[in-house]
Amino acid sequence: MLIVQKYGGTSVGNLERIEEVAKRVVEAKWAGHDLVVVVSAMSGVTNSLIEQAEYFSKSPNAQDMDLLLSSGERITSALLSIALNAKGYKALAFSGRKAGILTDSIFTKARIEEINAQAIKEELKKDVIVVVAGFQGVDRQGVVTTLGRGGSDLSAVALAGALSADLCEIYTDVDGVYTTDPRIEPRAKKLDKISYDEMLELASLGAKVLQNRSVELAKKLNVQIITRSSFNKNQGTLITKEEAMEQALVSGIALDKNQARITLRQIKDEPGIAAEIFSALADQNINVDMIIQNVGIDGATNLGFTVPENELDLAKDTMKKVLKDIIIESDKEIAKVSIVGVGMKSHSGVASKAFKTLAKEGINIGMISTSEIKISMIVQEKYAELAVRALHEAYRLDQ
Ligand code: ASP
Ligand code: MG
Repeated sequence: MLIVQKYGGTSVGNLERIEEVAKRVVEAKWAGHDLVVVVSAMSGVTNSLIEQAEYFSKSPNAQDMDLLLSSGERITSALLSIALNAKGYKALAFSGRKAGILTDSIFTKARIEEINAQAIKEELKKDVIVVVAGFQGVDRQGVVTTLGRGGSDLSAVALAGALSADLCEIYTDVDGVYTTDPRIEPRAKKLDKISYDEMLELASLGAKVLQNRSVELAKKLNVQIITRSSFNKNQGTLITKEEAMEQALVSGIALDKNQARITLRQIKDEPGIAAEIFSALADQNINVDMIIQNVGIDGATNLGFTVPENELDLAKDTMKKVLKDIIIESDKEIAKVSIVGVGMKSHSGVASKAFKTLAKEGINIGMISTSEIKISMIVQEKYAELAVRALHEAYRLDQ
């Protein structure tokens, strides 16, 4: 098999850890696989480079930043290759450039446009373990770019796609994706499998495991991902396409406390108002999530929506500018609880069970929104963790 392995910052956090990773790579080599290994910067390095730049400037030139930040991953790739060679294995470190990763020129958050994997393929033919510095590429002018925070995941998935790898293993310091945050519900269970779409909807659970953009790309390129820990031999979670799954009714419960609600009272119920409101918010790059508008009475209606907590003030100011004499109410003490599962597509009663469960706990639901595979509810923040535990139990996710 051709396997792309990716090791995150804590997995390569110091020289002993790099030694451990080298051993793991060697084991996979012994098992007969061809290997491309993508590495992150050692933990803390990227943040420390950013701090060093900020010592001089709060707004450093983005192109300089990319040259600076790309160095973290280069160090790890070279060290891991040196460690593998010292063990008697043929390995070679590749920069993003040598790996053929071509991006646009949007420095610090470049997008991969194309991968020319010829150089990697040639080394693989010679039985060399290719160790790639993650998180970076070059633009058409040959200038170094980086792919945004967490971007080494993206490097790994993109390379797995370009090489038609059989598997992309993402190593972190957690065992995989859980049915909910184990800090909230200790009975949370690790999932063996989850679909790309569920993983994307469970972003708040998966964030520590996998960058969202890389899941989107994996779905597009049909790359099989396993996320697992490099600190033990546990199996991990397979992220794959939906058809490959037995359809679990509900896979997980996600919690997002970083939400705030805005309610606009007595706005005019006529064409163009919603367009005006949400274009103004979009112009400010405010990320609107749930939107609820009620049936109007006497030409007026109420409109509610949620935004990230740290964008609340900007959202309120924006509303005051767009709508004169408007009554704006807002609430920061809310949280969004979401139930996610592909099985919802074909089963009824999932939503009513959620509502009954919260009713039994005396938790009021402020807003509801649904998609094909998700039901989200806004509740008071102080009851959010209770809601998660009650729902986890109701859908028997601990079994
Ligand atoms: N080192 C980069 C970061 O910390 C990229 C990565 O690790 O994925 O965001
Ligand atoms: Mg990461």
